[in-house]
Amino acid sequence: MTTEEKAPRDFIRQIIDEDNRTGKHGGRVHTRFPPEPNGFLHIGHAKSICINFGIAEEYGGKCNLRFDDTNPAKEEEIYVKSIIEDIKWLGFDWEDRLYFASDYFDQLYDYAVQLTKKGSAYIDEMSAEEISQYRGTLTTPGIESKYRNRPVEENLDLLERMKAGEFGDGEYVLRAKIDMAHPNMNMRDPVVYRILHATHHNTGDKWCIYPLYDWAHGLEDSIENITHSICSLEFEDHRPLYDWFLDELGVYHPQQIEFARLNLTYTVMSKRKLLELVEDGHVNGWDDPRLPTLTGLKRRGYSPSAIRSFCGRIGVAKVHSTVDIEFLEHCLRDDLNKTSPRFMGVLHPLKLVIENYPEDEVEEFDAINNPEDPSAGTRKVPFSRVLYIEKDDFMEDPPKKFYRLAPGREVRFRYAYFITCKEAIKEDGEVTELRCIVDLDTKGGDAPDGRKVKSTLHWVSAEHAVDAEARLYDRLFTVPNPLGEKDADFKDLINPDSSEVLRSCKVEPGVKDLKPFDRFQFERLGYFCVDPDTTSENLVLNRTVGLRDEWAKIQKQQKAQR
Ligand code: ATP
Ligand code: MG
Repeated sequence: MTTEEKAPRDFIRQIIDEDNRTGKHGGRVHTRFPPEPNGFLHIGHAKSICINFGIAEEYGGKCNLRFDDTNPAKEEEIYVKSIIEDIKWLGFDWEDRLYFASDYFDQLYDYAVQLTKKGSAYIDEMSAEEISQYRGTLTTPGIESKYRNRPVEENLDLLERMKAGEFGDGEYVLRAKIDMAHPNMNMRDPVVYRILHATHHNTGDKWCIYPLYDWAHGLEDSIENITHSICSLEFEDHRPLYDWFLDELGVYHPQQIEFARLNLTYTVMSKRKLLELVEDGHVNGWDDPRLPTLTGLKRRGYSPSAIRSFCGRIGVAKVHSTVDIEFLEHCLRDDLNKTSPRFMGVLHPLKLVIENYPEDEVEEFDAINNPEDPSAGTRKVPFSRVLYIEKDDFMEDPPKKFYRLAPGREVRFRYAYFITCKEAIKEDGEVTELRCIVDLDTKGGDAPDGRKVKSTLHWVSAEHAVDAEARLYDRLFTVPNPLGEKDADFKDLINPDSSEVLRSCKVEPGVKDLKPFDRFQFERLGYFCVDPDTTSENLVLNRTVGLRDEWAKIQKQQKAQR
């Protein structure tokens, strides 16, 4: 797989170019993507995946998939599975390099012994609260624990007994002995190991002490011979610690590089917040098509290539910013436009009878599968006396700028004929049927006498149409930054109209042959995909995104303002 857009030389690639020039890693480029299996991946993770796997690919290097499973309390096997599936779906390959931090638990422990032997770590007996109280603040130094100068032999003995399960949770911790007055709070004797009697999804009950992230992460990188450990900006303040651990042990030392996380408008990206939405039933599971999770986006009809292209186009920087969700949708449309077969479908059907068209006649018209891709060819679409059109495409008493169907008005029916509306039949004041006349000389959609019509409508033949349920989606939140509203819980800002279900849609027969997750366009209506809820009785379609490019509009407005 190749990265769609040629990536510009961002600061990470500049660092790697320079490393390659100076021969720092002997020209090697080896990255990793290190998810914690405590939730589903979202589009923010996709950014990190594209950076890590994308860079490895570009430089002819390697990228590992490594589960950072050091916290048994929050991690589960189902997350491991989903993460593997999602990364594969995005189109990246770690070959045989699938690793788990828990595979290194023995080695991580040996390193802890080594650090302790050196006198650079000690066993503390203070409680978590005390440790945090003693840590000081940004403006005041911390206070040293009275256990800080425990003799090495005693530290080693206690560490061994912690591991052997002699103590309860929280009774002891192993701390690095760095500097309680260090201006960087992360350097004030951070905890390296804690006691936690919990079953681990991978190692079961083998361990009752678990390493903390900062200890584990750099060592995992070192063990795997990672050259560039690319992570998000919140780890910038942890880099001195990352470096300290590796230098103190004198082991192979990868370089940590931080970049800004992706934030998107009208959604939330934190795993904790997403979990809340799922667990409290605000959405229908992790793959709800309104969520920014990769499994949700997949179900919504996003293509992997659209997501990769988006990640390439937003670039990589060191400053925080929020990307408009319209830009994501713009990238999506770009991709789907090129790749989606077209169909006709009617979401809000209105029956239409062509009075001068024979009862039993059926004609088949050639329809273009994809105007952007001539190799996609054509298909046959059946036409008959009774059709459905979109309710909105008719007005009994139209305003000036409405060019679609109205009494006495002639329009083109896509691929078929010019059709004129004679009469609207009403029941209880509502239009229930249109009576029309066809001009058979306009077959194929053009008049031999050169007369023009102002609009072209989509339609389906009633006799041939397939029933479908269409699920339409809108933004999940009513405000661009749901976590930034001071006096509101983000869950109160959920858009009550974010999902709408239409149960009596009528669609072209060919749609029936598509499989779950297949993507297509309904002409004039937007991009859709087949939902996995589809059964032989019920065809369920998700609207991925409408056709109108809001991003282009925003760009225009911004240009005008400048
Ligand atoms: P947690 O708070 O549970 O750590 P996390 O979102 O950081 O959540 P991880 O599993 O630790 O989840 O993330 C794996 C990798 O993805 C990390 O390297 C992290 O920096 C990166 N990542 C996470 N969220 C984003 C984001 N929004 N944009 C870019 N990268 C991200
Ligand atoms: Mg994280």
